[in-house]
Amino acid sequence: PYRLGPKISDWDEQRSKSIQSRPTKLLMVTGSQPNPCDNPTGDNFLLRSLKNKMDYARLHEIEVFYNTATMDDQLTGFWAKLPVLRRLMLARPEIEWLWWLDSDAVVTDMAFEIPLAKYAGHNLVLHGWASEVYVTGSWLGLNTGSFFIRNCQWSLDLLNAWAPMGPKGTVRIKAGEILSQNLRNRPVFEADDQSALVFLLRNNQQMWGERVFLENSYYLHGYWVALVDRYEEIMEKNQPGPGDERWPFVTHFVGCKPCGKDPAYPEEKCRVGMERALNFGDNQVLARYGLRHKHLGTTETVNLDSS
Ligand code: UDP
Ligand code: MN
Repeated sequence: PYRLGPKISDWDEQRSKSIQSRPTKLLMVTGSQPNPCDNPTGDNFLLRSLKNKMDYARLHEIEVFYNTATMDDQLTGFWAKLPVLRRLMLARPEIEWLWWLDSDAVVTDMAFEIPLAKYAGHNLVLHGWASEVYVTGSWLGLNTGSFFIRNCQWSLDLLNAWAPMGPKGTVRIKAGEILSQNLRNRPVFEADDQSALVFLLRNNQQMWGERVFLENSYYLHGYWVALVDRYEEIMEKNQPGPGDERWPFVTHFVGCKPCGKDPAYPEEKCRVGMERALNFGDNQVLARYGLRHKHLGTTETVNLDSS
């Protein structure tokens, strides 16, 4: 099968030599295509979406890595995150956790503290449900738009086991047919990284399942359709911090393609939702400087004390 690079089998030992006594470190990893977006408003969205991620990262002293390079010419598009994560693991052995965050995912709870200690016995943390992944086999049973992966040998091995359906062209198209035949309600399209992971975990639960944490006590990924119309009510009733229903940590614009073509939802609905999510997140940053958005639909700001 397709390999991501030369075989490495002693990564845990190699890493331990570089670690010494530094605290647990988390690196936020995101990225986008190097070229301008097809959709003219997409570049503005990408800029503000990166600003949003940098705001969260700065407030929580998390380093950010933004990738625009094609790190593996076979693993393009949604598969690009695999080689990026692998290369970062190898280049930064002192880093314990990497947090992949899609470009179309917005941090909407700036006060949420990531409970990394909770994942001590696990190496991969995704939003999802065990029954949906292992029993139903739904391609929506977990989400690969926002996840934590530990820098360790297990993860290098997992990335290699995950990659074979990724090479663009015939391999990816054929693999897509297999995924649609085997996963619940999956439409016919080329193999995507999310479906491939569900398929891998479901077929090899004994091998990988033990170290995979499917998180649903907060929105590590939150489906935007269910969240974007609730922000005013949330601000009225709750305080930032919980990351769950009360104040969602991440709002992910699944199916919106802000930078590309052929969204699964009307473009207008996506644009309105993204604007609201960005301003909702930004309000939590601006509050420190005595400002807020006039309302969630506008970039315009007002002074907190004069409103
Ligand atoms: N991505 C990337 N480089 C690319 C294409 C995509 O880094 O050339 C990243 C980007 O962050 C995007 C994620 O991969 O959000 C998932 O890709 P997908 O095509 O699913 O985009 P989405 O639907 O999330 O916008
Ligand atoms: Mn996405």
